[in-house]
Amino acid sequence: MVARPLREPVAAYVALGANLGNAASSVKHALAALAELPHTRLVKASSLYETAPHQALGPMYVNAVALLHTQLTAPDLLAALQALEQAAGRVRSGVNAPRTLDLDVLFYGEASISSPQLSVPHPRWDQRAFVLWPLHEIAPALVKPSMLAAVADQAITRLT
Ligand code: ADP
Ligand code: MG
Repeated sequence: MVARPLREPVAAYVALGANLGNAASSVKHALAALAELPHTRLVKASSLYETAPHQALGPMYVNAVALLHTQLTAPDLLAALQALEQAAGRVRSGVNAPRTLDLDVLFYGEASISSPQLSVPHPRWDQRAFVLWPLHEIAPALVKPSMLAAVADQAITRLT
């Protein structure tokens, strides 16, 4: 038997968003794809939520948050998420531009990462209702009531 070095699984939270095409279907497909990532288990997925674009224009967004247990490194996880974005037909046309699929790493265990490619925790995770409410649904201990109060002006509807 060949011994394979195994890393301890890390709890990683991923934010999903889409606002082009059938956004709900894109997010559902992306959740299914997360469950198929190598060395990764989809542990929890929030409901789908609908939000108006935040500091951006375009159609309504569908958002969700997933908890993964993954043995991928943080850069490998990011690369895997970007491959899923590409597979969903993502075109990067500008900051906050409408997108068929956006997958952001919110947390990677307790790690604090600051590289040109990857900032973890995600720099704006606690300023966005579309992250905070789905995250609160699956990991209430991570979201303080004061954070939810601070985004009370951002309309959000739970879909499922
Ligand atoms: P945004 O999600 O901010 O609207 P993009 O999805 O186009 O924008 O991502 C732009 C870049 O952000 C990516 O190429 C990626 O390298 C970088 N990035 C930095 N931190 C993260 C993170 N935590 N999750 C996902 N991408 C990140
Ligand atoms: Mg992104």
